[in-house]
Amino acid sequence: MDKNFKSFLKEVFGKYSTDLSGQVSQAFPALSAVDPDSFAISAVTVDGEVFEQGEVSRDFTIQSISKAFSFALALEQHGSLFVESKVGMEPTGEDYDTIIKLDDKNRPFNPMVNSGAIVMSGLINPREKATREEELLDYFGKFAGRSLKIDEETYRSENENGHKNWAIAHLLRHFNILTKEYREVLDLYFKQCSILVNTHDLALMGATLANDGQNPITGIKCLSSENLRHVLSILFTCGMYNYSGEWAFDVGLPAKSGISGGILLVVPGVLGMAIYSPRLDKRGNSIRGIKVSEELSDRFQLHVLDYTRKKARIN
Ligand code: GLN
Repeated sequence: MDKNFKSFLKEVFGKYSTDLSGQVSQAFPALSAVDPDSFAISAVTVDGEVFEQGEVSRDFTIQSISKAFSFALALEQHGSLFVESKVGMEPTGEDYDTIIKLDDKNRPFNPMVNSGAIVMSGLINPREKATREEELLDYFGKFAGRSLKIDEETYRSENENGHKNWAIAHLLRHFNILTKEYREVLDLYFKQCSILVNTHDLALMGATLANDGQNPITGIKCLSSENLRHVLSILFTCGMYNYSGEWAFDVGLPAKSGISGGILLVVPGVLGMAIYSPRLDKRGNSIRGIKVSEELSDRFQLHVLDYTRKKARIN
């Protein structure tokens, strides 16, 4: 099926293979050491069909894309009322690592900026597993359909060099938003950002979000429909850093970006897609990732607010 989609992937992959604009993130040493020219695209439909191009088995660290799934886990463990008492749902229009900005209820603005994401990591409790770290890894693994692991070198590099995140954690402690366990919470946040994935994993994680929270390959239900709606809403409004408004305007799909160069997109009811290309623009989004996403949305009329989009189809 879907010859059009298959040839679209091949075409955009070829078209952007030679686009080497942008720089790999210099945020900390382990991130800047990757091959800048890697390029991969994967898509998994809600029926479990897979379409791929490029280095789809090349592992990279998930970075900020993890925030979508730690938010999902916090919602699953505590319910949305409690989670909303800890974090707002409002875009900041500022960099993801803006030092700290709290709303009038003393909450970080949203769970996709670092301050809000660190608060979400602090909500994860060991329920099915012995430790918070295992709980989180196990939960992410349910979306990816395989067990995932942490890249120790990235974790250490981020822990040693992540002074801004340390500053955010100290301020969250100062304002009594984090408890005295704030060091452990930040440690978990660094670990979740250092989980290794490839585009195949991310596309399946996206397909699970596209498929009412149920992994289309394993059949495991990862989150309730209500929590899924919350996650997709925040991905739509805040998933692409301070580019989220323009992204909503142009691409119109829930998505999440990470500074390692990944973008995860969700076409609800249709498919999950992931692009990996570590050369970034000045806001920290993958340049080739944005271009491929724009073409995808245009070509198949996927913008969720498009009136002419009767039923999103990829064929
Ligand atoms: N681990 C990175 C940080 O916290 C993640 C940032 C990102 O991908 N935007 O700064």
